[in-house]
Amino acid sequence: MAENESARGAASGEPLVRVEGLRKSFGSLEVLKGINFEVNRGEVVTIIGASGSGKSTLLRCINLLETPDSGHVWFHGEDLANSRANVNKLRESIGMVFQTFNLFNNKNVLDNCTLAPVMLHKCDKAEAERRARENLAAVGLADFVDAPSTSLSGGQKQRVAIARALCMQPDLMLFDEPTSALDPEIVGEVLNVMRDLASGGMTMVVVTHEMDFAKNVSDKVVFMDKGVIAEEGDPKQLFTNPRQPRARAFLSRYL
Ligand code: ADP
Ligand code: MG
Repeated sequence: MAENESARGAASGEPLVRVEGLRKSFGSLEVLKGINFEVNRGEVVTIIGASGSGKSTLLRCINLLETPDSGHVWFHGEDLANSRANVNKLRESIGMVFQTFNLFNNKNVLDNCTLAPVMLHKCDKAEAERRARENLAAVGLADFVDAPSTSLSGGQKQRVAIARALCMQPDLMLFDEPTSALDPEIVGEVLNVMRDLASGGMTMVVVTHEMDFAKNVSDKVVFMDKGVIAEEGDPKQLFTNPRQPRARAFLSRYL
């Protein structure tokens, strides 16, 4: 059924996410100053930009961890800012992975993955476990199902966090600097999992400083600067020949 829905959405040309005129302030600090962008089904969009430019706030507005001051976030054609939208239901189909893994430390790997689907009545225990084993295998952790989550390395914890999000069968995955807290030698194992997810057709919005990932895996790159999208476009173009001086200055630190 999900596939049919995706096919219909794709056929109608309607983006999965459409952000329109999004504004958000914290006190007198205006963090998002009118953001517009779209994410199509199956697309990988990376968001890059300096610390403090509003990247996390933008992601958090997409799944309503923050309430926008004004503007719209359309998801599946429904305006999340509309009080009549079934926000909880919609939010259940958005997975989020943070820099810090936020695993339940007193639970083993399997229980970390089954807790939310069972609590939110998405499926019964046996089905939740089946799904968890499948997603844990997909992130290379089939042998760690019974391990206490505290026994894992950072890269393994982040892969559990990804598997856990996938167990809710999301239509959209949001990643907020998923490798920033990891030692350099294990960043690759998490990026590989994300790359697999992308090639499997998952719609993803990824905030990252991993410019190789942004350049090679994403369909579109968004460069944020001081609360606005200063430039967006094709990764090859943006990385080789950024139009905006601000994007050029930012990227020069990485290239
Ligand atoms: P980025 O992810 O690009 O580093 P953020 O979206 O986290 O940027 O933050 C943008 C600005 O908003 C920063 O100056 C940050 O300190 C501020 N900010 C973020 N969240 C809050 C909050 N809950 N309360 C007050 N200020 C915040
Ligand atoms: Mg951030």
